[in-house]
Amino acid sequence: MSRCLAERSIDHVVLERGEVAHSWRTERWDSLRLLTPNWQSRLPGFTYQGDDPDGYRTMPQVIAFIQSYARAISAPVQTHTEVTSVRSIDDGYLVQTNQGDWRCRTLVIASGACNIALAPAFASMVPASIASLTAQQYRNPSQLAEGGVLVIGASASGTQIAHEVQRSARPVTLSVGEHIRAPRIYRGKDLQWWMDATGLQDARYDEIDDISRARNVPSLQLAGTPDRSTLDLNALTDIGVKLVGRIVGMREDGKAQFAGSLHNMCAMSDLKMGRLLDTIDTWASENGLSAIEPPSRLPPTKVEASPPLGMDLVKHGIKTIIWATGYRPDYSWLNVPVLDRKGMIRHDGGVTATPGLYLMGAPFLRRRKSTLIDGAGDDARDLSAHLASYLDGSGRHPNSRITASTAMLSPGLA
Ligand SMILES: Cc1cc2nc3c(=O)[nH]c(=O)nc-3n(C[C@H](O)[C@H](O)[C@H](O)COP(=O)(O)OP(=O)(O)OC[C@H]3O[C@@H](n4cnc5c(N)ncnc54)[C@H](O)[C@@H]3O)c2cc1C
Repeated sequence: MSRCLAERSIDHVVLERGEVAHSWRTERWDSLRLLTPNWQSRLPGFTYQGDDPDGYRTMPQVIAFIQSYARAISAPVQTHTEVTSVRSIDDGYLVQTNQGDWRCRTLVIASGACNIALAPAFASMVPASIASLTAQQYRNPSQLAEGGVLVIGASASGTQIAHEVQRSARPVTLSVGEHIRAPRIYRGKDLQWWMDATGLQDARYDEIDDISRARNVPSLQLAGTPDRSTLDLNALTDIGVKLVGRIVGMREDGKAQFAGSLHNMCAMSDLKMGRLLDTIDTWASENGLSAIEPPSRLPPTKVEASPPLGMDLVKHGIKTIIWATGYRPDYSWLNVPVLDRKGMIRHDGGVTATPGLYLMGAPFLRRRKSTLIDGAGDDARDLSAHLASYLDGSGRHPNSRITASTAMLSPGLA
């Protein structure tokens, strides 16, 4: 967004509570690599020029990439500037920070969609003898006690953490709810290549039947590993991970209850994966890609006949629970009435009902790929055009009380 505003000569500042790429520095586990290939993190004016377009960036590489982008575009970032309050004033917004106040005509909220790790209310019932942490707090297996680990959630975070922890000789039980299974490589190409080429990533928010559902679907069960292997539930059971259903309750004595839906969840996921691959196959034949590898299907997900509906975690030797049950944004500092009853910003493709207030970086904001780094560029182009015409309409002349035309929170990407 900073790059797009600069192209339009819109005076702006980017406020960041930490360093550039703060969330990648502080909220991810050590071994994480992007699940999107290098070529796919395209930003305005940037395409990957390295010699490993199909590789997956490590966290230090992601930080270096975002930092170098910020430098290349001379983004006006004010680091270590935490926004503590935003409210409307007559001619725009008053932004209070730990480094003083800013006034601006327009404001782009780009403070991230994953600030808070979610866990169900009953997570507080976990007995004191069992450590409990979220995917945001997890760093590597060495921080965990020896013994069993219950990982809750089987999307990208949960499956990757389960894989790493199981291989550290801590037996993992994985609680599986709704998830989206996908092969890493299909017909010789990365699944993300197919999602991009077929236009699935470009699907627009205003052309989707149920956008609120689409904004809440779990992440694809993908991992970015050097061997480009598929990390699905079969890969996990092959190394000894035990699957149980979605966790539905926890008692103070450490007895966990699991839903009886494991078979259905897995069958549904297999079915949806089949539909996705059918769409890809149809597109491939319509677009003359018949010379590539022929279509194939993964075997169905293996599930034991009667997975347990409950588990005495203490007796079972579980020493740690890792909640990989999703994330949500933190808007506790936002004092503008744009939040719905779930605390999410109401918006139409990033444009809020409050003039001059915009949102970036939320799932399926304007396109399916808005969830990814790769989606930020197109969203920023669209929203900066809207913002510019708003400023033109409302008069863009400098006002002595206005210190910036636009403030942005914050520069995960700029
Ligand atoms: C575990 C995980 C893995 C992911 N893997 C991938 C992947 O492989 N590929 C991909 O494309 N995308 C991935 N994503 C999604 C990716 O994080 C987003 O696409 C991208 O980070 C969005 O950038 P952003 O700048 O909107 O948000 P963020 O990167 O979250 O940046 C938001 C910034 O706002 C700052 N901030 C927040 N509140 C305040 C405040 N009050 N005051 C000042 N600053 C504030 C934060 O410090 C942070 O630096 C992943 C997300 C997670 C959680």
